[in-house]
Amino acid sequence: MKVGVLALQGDVPEHLRVLRMLVRDPVAVRGPTDLAAVGALCLPGGESTTIARLIEAAGLWAPLRDRIQHGLPVLATCAGLILLARELAPSASGRDPPTFGALDVTVRRNDYGSQRESCEAPIRVEGLGGTPFPGVFIRSPRILSVGARATPIAWRGEEIVGAREGKLWGLTFHPELSRDLRVHRKFLSAAGLRG
Ligand code: GLN
Repeated sequence: MKVGVLALQGDVPEHLRVLRMLVRDPVAVRGPTDLAAVGALCLPGGESTTIARLIEAAGLWAPLRDRIQHGLPVLATCAGLILLARELAPSASGRDPPTFGALDVTVRRNDYGSQRESCEAPIRVEGLGGTPFPGVFIRSPRILSVGARATPIAWRGEEIVGAREGKLWGLTFHPELSRDLRVHRKFLSAAGLRG
């Protein structure tokens, strides 16, 4: 099976660039036919309200929700995490997208402030040996709580910045914007795909 990247808006080329270094021919998923061809999916960073609208317009909302419910491995970064979350706490802007309600976390959009809060920081990721992972944060959501079905997998200091529930991974930072392939590689091998 191939690996896909939801390719409607956001940092799609960046995920594809990392995936091309690890697997053959990753797929840009733009509609239900593309989705049917993939066995794992990256939900990119971007603007979650826009991505949600485009998912609906592409006829992908129900197919994607079904695949996720039936065990599709998903690596969701930043806006992707927002879309995957079980629950959103209302953000300051009052604009919050619908979500797939799949990964058992509560998150809030833009909870570290705006661009001024974008930064790079060392991250500890569960099961990644070696040096800390370079975490790139861009207007990231905050994980307010991790529910009983999920477990934390990434930390910035004491703060939880990633969680996993089975095959669903959600990160508030952007491994696709670093030169470090370890997170994608680990996700792919956990999904049973080469990485
Ligand atoms: N702030 C964006 C949102 O709420 C997420 C930012 C990102 O993906 N880098 O959708």
